[in-house]
Amino acid sequence: MEYIYIDGEFLPKDEAKVSVYDHGLLYGDGIFEGIRLYEGNIFRMKEHNERLFAAAKAIGLTIPHTPDEITEIVAESCRKNNLTNGYIRLVITRGVGDLGLSPLKCSKPSVICIAASIQLYPEELYEKGLSLMTAAQRRNKATILDPQIKSLNYLNNILARMEGDNRGFPEVLMLTHDGIVAECSADNVFIVRKGEIWTAPLHVGILDGITRGTVIDIAKKEGITLYEKEFTLFNVYGADEMFITGSGAEIVPVVSLDDRTIGDGKPGPITKKILKEFRSLRTQEGVII
Ligand code: PMP
Repeated sequence: MEYIYIDGEFLPKDEAKVSVYDHGLLYGDGIFEGIRLYEGNIFRMKEHNERLFAAAKAIGLTIPHTPDEITEIVAESCRKNNLTNGYIRLVITRGVGDLGLSPLKCSKPSVICIAASIQLYPEELYEKGLSLMTAAQRRNKATILDPQIKSLNYLNNILARMEGDNRGFPEVLMLTHDGIVAECSADNVFIVRKGEIWTAPLHVGILDGITRGTVIDIAKKEGITLYEKEFTLFNVYGADEMFITGSGAEIVPVVSLDDRTIGDGKPGPITKKILKEFRSLRTQEGVII
């Protein structure tokens, strides 16, 4: 039996429900985190909490818990479901209100935690690499709705992902409104050129990915130069290596984009090194349940 946490209670999956008046449902008014559990270790929970509380602040939502309490809710959700490896979806909605837009009538945010087992990507993907396409849909503009807010409104990403679905690509690359490489629909993007790693800076309008942050830390530790800088598709097509990162995907090599082969069409040495390091870190950095 799967148990879901909602506002202080653990309910069987079929009984875990929210109101149709919850503004999370009516307006996408709320925030979330996608977190991984590796061998009983909630990976980088502190960083997830920091991102969650920063997003809450940005949308003027008061989370009715301290970061330590949130950690305990996540840990207890894992224990309750006998998980040692899994994926945790933590959701904070604005709560129940009326049909108006204003959150003034929403008296109490709802806290939901779903801890589930995860369908791992096949190992072949990490060995052979992924092919991607660039979506026509542009990423939300940071000065209008900053993608750093991991909000419950993912329509921008979904519209991009549907382009991939229609053409047989499991993930798609997204550009900013003026054509700078931003991120994928649910993953951050990195390229490797002449031994240096490049990734988009946060200000172009991307999520501050937890896995992205881990890659930046690994590069620093390994003495690999990494730049957060703006670049275009031209730089990607000519890159030696490319990879994407996310809590679900971890680090996946990309070997082709828009029918151009990246590098020699195989996962490159720097990508492999980062992936190897990541796999040793994932059980070490975090909170043990
Ligand atoms: N970008 C977007 C738009 C995302 O939704 C995600 C999370 N799936 C990421 C990047 C990767 O972030 P993280 O490493 O924190 O999972």
